[in-house]
Amino acid sequence: MNSISIIGAGIGGLTLGNILKQHNLDFTIYESAPEIKPVGAGIMMAINAMQIFDKLGLKEKIENVGNKINGISITDEKFRLISKTNVLELEKKYNSCNVAIHRAELQRILSENIGFENIKLNHSLSSIHKKENYVLKFENENEVESKIVFGADGIHSKVRNQIFETGKIRNAKQLCWRGLLDFELPEKYHHEAFELWGKGKRFGFVKLSEKKVYWYALINQGKQKRYSNLVDYFYDFDPLVLDILESTLEENIILNEIIDLSSIPTWHSENLCLIGDAAHATTPNMGQGACQAIEDAYIIGKLLENNKDFNVVFDEFQKIRKEKVNYIVNTSWRIGKISQWENGNFLRNFLMRLIPESQNLKLAEKIIQLER
Ligand SMILES: Cc1cc2nc3c(=O)[nH]c(=O)nc-3n(C[C@H](O)[C@H](O)[C@H](O)COP(=O)(O)OP(=O)(O)OC[C@H]3O[C@@H](n4cnc5c(N)ncnc54)[C@H](O)[C@@H]3O)c2cc1C
Repeated sequence: MNSISIIGAGIGGLTLGNILKQHNLDFTIYESAPEIKPVGAGIMMAINAMQIFDKLGLKEKIENVGNKINGISITDEKFRLISKTNVLELEKKYNSCNVAIHRAELQRILSENIGFENIKLNHSLSSIHKKENYVLKFENENEVESKIVFGADGIHSKVRNQIFETGKIRNAKQLCWRGLLDFELPEKYHHEAFELWGKGKRFGFVKLSEKKVYWYALINQGKQKRYSNLVDYFYDFDPLVLDILESTLEENIILNEIIDLSSIPTWHSENLCLIGDAAHATTPNMGQGACQAIEDAYIIGKLLENNKDFNVVFDEFQKIRKEKVNYIVNTSWRIGKISQWENGNFLRNFLMRLIPESQNLKLAEKIIQLER
């Protein structure tokens, strides 16, 4: 019999494990994959997430493996600036930086700190039932009873689907390729993330470490001509973009549809709570999905400092988190649509250039501020 079970060893489940460990609570994480080997891609940990990793004593480890990013620029396809957000001032104020890092490295740091004895791999949850406690059945035929359960099992969460019988997936009708490669970027791109907006397509890249560069490329689904090579879609972009795409090996590219989760009425039930993408998956346009999963874990930890009744904690947790998360999901969806316009781009870029950087910073600060 477990006191606490976490389903899913993604960034959300692993961060929660680290938080529960800080509280000296007994827990087991169940992960369907045979190893902690997330999709081969990079990820940006924004200042909100890095403040939490600082409290967990992991900030320096993550900074050392990743790459500090002081600004984010949106440009047109030829690197003509549309909008810039330089976060140096915010970094000083919050004593943390944005860090771009390989997902596998981040998950390794989080798992090592928990201790692998608390993570059961090859445990894919097949069913969950509430009797006096929760009965968890796994595809490998193992069965476990647990008093408290956290569903940290991602956007297609079985915990959510079986307990709450809800979860409508929204499809943004955009295809997203992500790639990793060894590449010498010119120095001016070393500590800044770039996103280039074209017509119905965009391309972003960031340096992850001494050698590694992570990129992503999106096109509107069904609207574009069918090219056989991804690079051909970006024929009208700066040569650097074409160079990065052409230099990436096919096996280092992954493709996904861009989806999110329509807001669900409640994230918790008796002794059970959803966190991260299972509760509130967002499109990636603000680079905040995982950061919000990390914030979820942090808030649960803060609430446990004053109350050991999990049901009270879960109720309070949802009250604290819902507004910020809904704001991010909705804003990210809108940004995703605007960034992929096929017509009127000149006007869009003109209007966006009128927005002062101070306004972008205000938005950034609203997001990186922790609720407690
Ligand atoms: C293209 C793209 C770019 C992104 N970039 C960023 C970014 O820069 N910054 C950012 O903060 N976020 C980003 N995100 C979002 C981020 O990837 C997610 O929000 C984050 O991974 C959610 O973490 P999670 O732990 O909640 O869920 P997941 O990462 O989905 O983890 C869920 C875990 O549960 C496991 N699992 C699933 N079902 C079961 C089961 N039945 N039994 C046991 N285990 C199970 C899975 O194997 C997985 O390990 C991006 C997303 C996309 C698509």
